[in-house]
Amino acid sequence: MRTRFAPSPTGPLHLGHAYAAILAHDMARAAGGEFLIRIEDIDRSRARPKWEAQIFDDLRWLGLSWEEPVLRQSANMGAYRDALARLEADGLTYPCQCRRRDIEAALSAPQEGAPLVGPDGPIYPGTCRHGGAEPEGAAIRLHMARAATEPVTFLEEGAGPEGQSGEIEVTPEDMRLGIGDIVLARRDMGTSYHLSVVVDDAAQGITHVTRGEDLFAATAIHALLQDRLALPRPRYHHHRLIRDDAGKRLAKRDDARAIGAFRAEGASPADIRRMVGL
Ligand code: GLU
Repeated sequence: MRTRFAPSPTGPLHLGHAYAAILAHDMARAAGGEFLIRIEDIDRSRARPKWEAQIFDDLRWLGLSWEEPVLRQSANMGAYRDALARLEADGLTYPCQCRRRDIEAALSAPQEGAPLVGPDGPIYPGTCRHGGAEPEGAAIRLHMARAATEPVTFLEEGAGPEGQSGEIEVTPEDMRLGIGDIVLARRDMGTSYHLSVVVDDAAQGITHVTRGEDLFAATAIHALLQDRLALPRPRYHHHRLIRDDAGKRLAKRDDARAIGAFRAEGASPADIRRMVGL
């Protein structure tokens, strides 16, 4: 068994991250397996070395240990380019020059009805799907109708937000209507969360992906990309989110619940485990 914790160095680790990291770590250790780290820093405008250093410091303080080397996404751009090139060569992508406001305008046209929302926000209305967009400086989208021709399946060993578990099957129609033509490469990044995570889970040999249930809906995208890129399918274990007292999920800006703040107040790693219900 190989699990991973994949933080983005865009803020301090909070209790939700601690829960995710400890869960992945303990699951691997209990099975005599390996625990790996991946720094998800493709968003260069938000990633900061100081947050990365703080993340490692907090994880060590929590008593976690991991296999080296750590994979840093910013050092792996060539692998994402290759994966994208393969999807392009298979005719599964197209360039898109739409800006956010173009998409919002298209979706608010009266005949469209209420826009459907997928894992990445409003479902793209398909403006650039039939060609015409200049590839120069464009985002690259997945042509979902071509890519999803048969159901994708994955094994959920935890649970999605509505308790979904076991063998999950998503039909091509659900992929088209409920997910749509998602962005594979952002114009400013050359990749995206979805493309990178799939390439990297394979590169790190991850057998069990543990992560928050907010990413359950994105897993169908990942399973589809694994199929299209001939990558192995890990098992998935989505877990509950740690919420604040008002029931809202914690975010990076919730500094009050940062591990560093609890450390400064004298909390122990055992206290942190207890606070997240472990
Ligand atoms: N980097 C993501 C996060 O911070 C985790 C993505 C994943 O585990 O697939 O939420």
